[in-house]
Amino acid sequence: MTVAHKSTCDVLIIGAGPAGAYLAYLLAAKGYSVAAIDKEAFPRYKVCGGGLCARSVKLLPFDIAPVVVDKTTAAFVSLRNRHLCLKKLDDPIIHMVKREDFDAFLIEKAVSKGIRFLDQTRLETITSSKYGVEVQTSSGSFKAQVVVGADGVHSKTALLTGLGPARNLLPAIEAEAFMTRPDLLEDYHGCVHFDLAIPPQGYGWIFPKAEHLSIGVFSTLQKEKGLKRAFSEYLEIKGLKESIRLQRLKGHMIPAGLKTRKRIASSNSLLVGDAAGFADPITGEGIYQALSQAELAAAAIGNFLQGSPDGLKTYERMVMKKFRKEHIYAWLLGAFFYRLPALSHPLLRRHSELVTDLHIDIITGKRSYKDLFKIALLLKRP
Ligand SMILES: Cc1cc2nc3c(=O)[nH]c(=O)nc-3n(C[C@H](O)[C@H](O)[C@H](O)COP(=O)(O)OP(=O)(O)OC[C@H]3O[C@@H](n4cnc5c(N)ncnc54)[C@H](O)[C@@H]3O)c2cc1C
Repeated sequence: MTVAHKSTCDVLIIGAGPAGAYLAYLLAAKGYSVAAIDKEAFPRYKVCGGGLCARSVKLLPFDIAPVVVDKTTAAFVSLRNRHLCLKKLDDPIIHMVKREDFDAFLIEKAVSKGIRFLDQTRLETITSSKYGVEVQTSSGSFKAQVVVGADGVHSKTALLTGLGPARNLLPAIEAEAFMTRPDLLEDYHGCVHFDLAIPPQGYGWIFPKAEHLSIGVFSTLQKEKGLKRAFSEYLEIKGLKESIRLQRLKGHMIPAGLKTRKRIASSNSLLVGDAAGFADPITGEGIYQALSQAELAAAAIGNFLQGSPDGLKTYERMVMKKFRKEHIYAWLLGAFFYRLPALSHPLLRRHSELVTDLHIDIITGKRSYKDLFKIALLLKRP
């Protein structure tokens, strides 16, 4: 890695997860000079199920086959260990990736378009300058017209540019599980498991990878102290406790609560992905949102660099239009399901096939949570 001590670029992106790397790719493809930094050494592990929903795959303009380790065409759904349904489809619902490989693949795509990428480089300070911003990093300083915070849920860029701290984060934990008998893994390939209400106000998942399973639990309670216990209970319920060896049991926060950020852009900066918020309040999915916001940001930054008087605020308006209402509909559905189990569980048991179909329509990009909300109001009570 060559260290730049004083560099100038149109756009400096902080963080090379899916949001930052894909934005870097899109801006470089438009011909702008882009630099991206990440504090970690790449490829780096990121705690994540690595489930790329079909709507994310549709959005990407290049083939991701080199980093896909499993394609799931079936979904097993249960409610507190009571089987609800098993859906089988012709096309993949979720493509499985290992995040270290997927994220490295995306940033390589951006590098191939001409961006400069510095890993092991940490954001330190951001100050306004005549040029736009001056950004001090652990590998030297950058002058850029725009700085983008793609630095995840605890975005330092947001703090340094006056966009404030994240709000309403929800916890999840996950581990990579290796079977003690490799033949047992075969049963899981091609199928995702969603086990609802474990923990009571969340769900557990099993996502198959080529050589192991990613197993996790997500809670919609902001301070879920018992998440490790719920994880252990989940392994027990799935009958996996004795047949797996766990690696990297880790927790992380997801910006999936009701209160999202009010501001995600200022005169020379904007936030994308987990830094902006808007992960799915029901599932915690965030890669689709990261990639989709990268597209909106690329359009807005392009206009800004062409001298559009609207500035980067158009990005904020576009994101609020596309994600805010959807987020509220999803949160309302989630609140009904997770917080009112006496009402919602019997309803789900009765309509499990339909609800699963509708949810698959959402993650494959055919429907919105608004559609699901309207349909849910018409469901017959048991
Ligand atoms: C347990 C768990 C499971 C999940 N499973 C799924 C799933 O299966 N599917 C899905 O769609 N979503 C999932 N998510 C959500 C998903 O992981 C995130 O929404 C997604 O990673 C957001 O991408 P991003 O690019 O915004 O941020 P990140 O992927 O978090 O990337 C941010 C990058 O910024 C870098 N960075 C941070 N601070 C600095 C700094 N100061 N200087 C320089 N670099 C910095 C970090 O090193 C990191 O590489 C899951 C989340 C959790 C916690």
